[in-house]
Amino acid sequence: MEDVRATYLRFPAWTQHFWTWQTGKALPGQKPLLRHTWASYLAVTLALFLAGLAVSTAAVAAMFPFWYLALPLGWVLTVTGERMMVLVIAHQALHRRFSGRSRLDWFWGEVVTVLSVFHTFRDFKEEHFDNHHRREIFATEADPPVQFLLDLGFRPGLSRRQLWRRAWTVFLSPLFYWRGFLGRVGSNLRSRSWRLAGFGVWLGWWLSLPFWLPNGALVLLLAFVLPVILFAQLSALLDRLGEHEWLGPRNPEFGHRFYTAANTAARYCGAPVPARSMPAGAQVVAWLRWTAATIFYHIPCRLLVVVGDLPSHDYHHRYPSTPEWTTAAYARQRDIDSGPEGPPYEEVWGMGAAIDRVFRAWEGSTAGALSHR
Ligand SMILES: [Zn+2]
Ligand SMILES: [Zn+2]
Repeated sequence: MEDVRATYLRFPAWTQHFWTWQTGKALPGQKPLLRHTWASYLAVTLALFLAGLAVSTAAVAAMFPFWYLALPLGWVLTVTGERMMVLVIAHQALHRRFSGRSRLDWFWGEVVTVLSVFHTFRDFKEEHFDNHHRREIFATEADPPVQFLLDLGFRPGLSRRQLWRRAWTVFLSPLFYWRGFLGRVGSNLRSRSWRLAGFGVWLGWWLSLPFWLPNGALVLLLAFVLPVILFAQLSALLDRLGEHEWLGPRNPEFGHRFYTAANTAARYCGAPVPARSMPAGAQVVAWLRWTAATIFYHIPCRLLVVVGDLPSHDYHHRYPSTPEWTTAAYARQRDIDSGPEGPPYEEVWGMGAAIDRVFRAWEGSTAGALSHR
């Protein structure tokens, strides 16, 4: 298999940390440029999210010249911050690995899930920590993400074409977004104490905008509902579709410790950089394609779907309690460099390719695969 990350060595050494961030894969022996503490990670993430909301709100409220160009920028910041809050901060907090202090983890886990109108921290922990990370449940039909996908009509035994058609139907289905929204609000309404109060204040603030802010109703819709509710919902679906090879067989040789390895590959955002050896004409075409794919596909995927340490999700399942979650790409590579403790690592390049891999596996499996556990 081609070493895709090595093709990026065509670029100067000083750009390599950027490519590590963008693709999600570190170079052999590469050391992190920057090590976040939990507090600096939190500060950056909250700043992205709140700046996004502020940009979109100002754009729609003031409708300054070219406001419709500022609005998508606000969306990107909002969704990036929101998904990082859920998939990194709340996720590490529920593993009790965010700040290292359990009460503080719980506090920030609640705060970020209130701001993102996500399920409560407790519900998220139950779904992820108590189920997804359990050996008997992981990637089986009892795993909550699998149930979520089956519920949306994704089924093993369907052809790859049918599964992709299903995916597009769901992406465009108002019912999908509505049900997701009800699930998130319902989880919040079942909560108690200051979490419920915080949720009320946060939602109340946005719902009050039509009464006092210019274009307030439009602000509510375009700056809040669209990115925080709808786009985040789509992002979560795209993430889940390619997170693991759901319902796939396990490899008994991987033992108790690395049982997730057979169903989990790293998900990288990038494509092979055109080679120097290519003829000039072909190289021009290849560069145009590569540049367009990087700007319009891989970077958006990295910012909006496969955020934070998610490219190295395989490493997370091998070492769920690692304190190195801010530098997961480097930690994963170090494990490879030193001869991995577990089975060989696998990788997929491209968010869509990761989803396609799951669909191909499901196409091959018979409908009976559903009862494999
Ligand atoms: Zn997982
Ligand atoms: Zn986890």
